[in-house]
Amino acid sequence: MADHGHPQTRRTARLLPGAIEALRMGMGGIPIQRLSASDADRVLGKAVDAGINFFDTARGYTDSEAKFGRVLGRRRPQVLIASKSFSRGADDILRDIETTLGNLRSDYVDLYQCHNVASEADLERVLAPDGAVAGMLRAREQGKLRYIGISGHKPRIVARALERFPFAAVQVPANFMETDAMAELIPAARRSGAGVIAMKPVGGGNIRETALNFRFIFAHGVDVAIPGMDSEEQVAANVAALDDLSPLNEEETARLQAEKDRLGERFCRRCEYCMPCPQGLPISFLHVLRNYYFVYDLKDWALERLAGLAKTYKDCAACGECVAKCPYHLDMPEIFRETWEKIQADRRGGAAQG
Ligand code: SF4
Ligand code: SF4
Repeated sequence: MADHGHPQTRRTARLLPGAIEALRMGMGGIPIQRLSASDADRVLGKAVDAGINFFDTARGYTDSEAKFGRVLGRRRPQVLIASKSFSRGADDILRDIETTLGNLRSDYVDLYQCHNVASEADLERVLAPDGAVAGMLRAREQGKLRYIGISGHKPRIVARALERFPFAAVQVPANFMETDAMAELIPAARRSGAGVIAMKPVGGGNIRETALNFRFIFAHGVDVAIPGMDSEEQVAANVAALDDLSPLNEEETARLQAEKDRLGERFCRRCEYCMPCPQGLPISFLHVLRNYYFVYDLKDWALERLAGLAKTYKDCAACGECVAKCPYHLDMPEIFRETWEKIQADRRGGAAQG
């Protein structure tokens, strides 16, 4: 669907030059990993029917590519499919691209990205003569991918990358809590013509004012947002958010500020880079339950789910492995210890009152 309003308030964006326009609400491929194959089929089918045509997955998201491929492989060329790889060498990424294509049931992928380029040294590896970008250029010549992109959690590094190579699109975290990309990277992307994809646009499911948040990021230069979705209701709600992309007024801005104050800095975006935990803790799910317990005050709901887990907060051995891998430097040993102590204190308080 093409529309011709102001770029910030249009429902579609020209994310990749020469490709079909993308609905500004795309779909990320992390939560779909949790669904059965039949549920994933249903959610993806609903997404396509609702007009979503940009889908982003990754080699690293277990069976996400394959689940996308089951549905989207039949929808070519109505959809744009992106994937990404952590491989930093040319030969390794060429092997990954073959695996991706098999999973996607397609003979090409629209956008292939260097996944989470995290430092200057990492960027050097990717751009080396035998690095991942050289491999992707070869794959592009062979028609196996159409555009080369880059993703990262540090917009400053991705901005450096744009100075070194004409990536067709950049993918970084962007929501009203995480605005680093808006200072330098997005203006640089605008100048170079690179598309801007917002990952974690709803803070890993933590942001409640989702409609206001989408309006905020689209007004700040994001072309396409890719929230993960694991239900048909989420698909419908996210697409409906495009019905109003008007700039925020003062009262709405104040509501976002209140949400910011409520969430604080210590929240998990559910990216799962910290996994696996050697002790078997489901780290991101424990963050979710913590939120439900303390932020949303759904204590019984959270306790019921905690009771069904083999390992919880108290089982953290404080090894620090996850802290080193978390792009947001969340201190799991500290957060989990504090969470467990507070829940125990609550229970004691509840028992004393009862
Ligand atoms: S610090 Fe705790 S949660 Fe993190 S990896 Fe170690 S045991 Fe697992
Ligand atoms: S703890 Fe950090 S790495 Fe793990 S899921 Fe949350 S944000 Fe991602």
